[in-house]
Amino acid sequence: MAILTQAPRGTEDILPEESVQWQVLEEVMRGEASLHGFGEIRTPVFEHTELFQRSVGDTTDVVQKEMYTFLDKGGRSITLRPEGTAGAARAMLEHGVYNGGLPVKFYYFTSCYRYEKAQKGRLREFHQFGAEMYGSAAPLADAEVILMARSIFDRTGLSGVSLELNSIGCPECRAKYTEALKAYFGEHREELCSTCLDRLDRNPMRILDCKSPECGRVAAGAPRMLDYLCDDCKAHFESVKEALTAAGVEYTVNPSIVRGLDYYTRTVFEFVCELDGKPITVCGGGRYDGLIEELGCQPMPALGFALGMERLLLLLRQQNIELPSEEPCELFIASLGAPAKMAAFRLCDTLWKSGVKAACDVNDRGLKAQMKYADKIGAKYSIVLGDDELAAGKADMKNMETGEKKKISLGENFLDDFLTITTMDEDLSF
Ligand SMILES: [Zn+2]
Ligand SMILES: [Zn+2]
Repeated sequence: MAILTQAPRGTEDILPEESVQWQVLEEVMRGEASLHGFGEIRTPVFEHTELFQRSVGDTTDVVQKEMYTFLDKGGRSITLRPEGTAGAARAMLEHGVYNGGLPVKFYYFTSCYRYEKAQKGRLREFHQFGAEMYGSAAPLADAEVILMARSIFDRTGLSGVSLELNSIGCPECRAKYTEALKAYFGEHREELCSTCLDRLDRNPMRILDCKSPECGRVAAGAPRMLDYLCDDCKAHFESVKEALTAAGVEYTVNPSIVRGLDYYTRTVFEFVCELDGKPITVCGGGRYDGLIEELGCQPMPALGFALGMERLLLLLRQQNIELPSEEPCELFIASLGAPAKMAAFRLCDTLWKSGVKAACDVNDRGLKAQMKYADKIGAKYSIVLGDDELAAGKADMKNMETGEKKKISLGENFLDDFLTITTMDEDLSF
């Protein structure tokens, strides 16, 4: 029966002590996105399968091998989103958001689904923060989204994240390059894996990011896109680099970056960091000027990036960067007997209404068990209520750390007393 108490392979639960860290990171990302005028978009977990076939590309590993695709009860082919860009673009077009002025800027937090070999830093359900910009072909737009991602890493305190940049040109210059690649890989046919043999005719650029070491060796000697860029693509790439330099963003040009998805054009980039001594990509993005047209609409330039939440958290942990944990409970009110229990509940309610984190016993436990629980939840203060305290209208409030006790009124002045005592203690601790 373990199947009932075990999550499917390649998935992870995020428990409260960890989700606090997610919230902190999400706050950083929302803040940065908002500075640049990006608004949050939330799209469905599943879309029509055709959307991903058209946008991500039929020849990609993602579409060929990794998608969670099924027929729904109406016989429609449905796919759990393997990435966030296609759904955002679909929504932008469906709702005509571009009519409100360009560029349109979205950010999203999504779960994504890919059937991959489960391993560290690679899950079948994973989460991304992403930014999407539609309607600007300008190099400054490329620089701005790259800058946003850079700034997010800086704000988290993560070190050793390097930016790798490349241009994969436009359909015109890439056609020439593709011919050159076909000729080159054609001569190395015997050394390629079976997947790459299949790619050779359909999409030879994919061979450049094949994970097989043999293909990697062949790819190392392949012609470089940068040598084939047309004048416009070259000028665009130069301007992107110039803008990054002007903003003090360091980068290296890495001609082997092609990104795994078909919709990319011109600028592609990755933020890479070391995990357990091996480089991993924690954020990837670029320009996809052909995407909107591919979806059957008027051409519209587009670009963006996606940042892996799980990977970022792994990296932060590896670098021992402390993220805040859950705020502890301010006050635990223990009680003895039914009237005290109701009084404790009422006092807690007063605190809750004032935004103070408080707790009382709801399980009718003995005093000892109640205090053990107060310890467990890290309560900063505690009060024990019995008949005597209720009769006197006051009780001792104990500082759980120092053991010091102070009188607190149980009547009208309860909240004032509570705030006075806690503020005094806070002042002392500075
Ligand atoms: Zn070009
Ligand atoms: Zn291969």
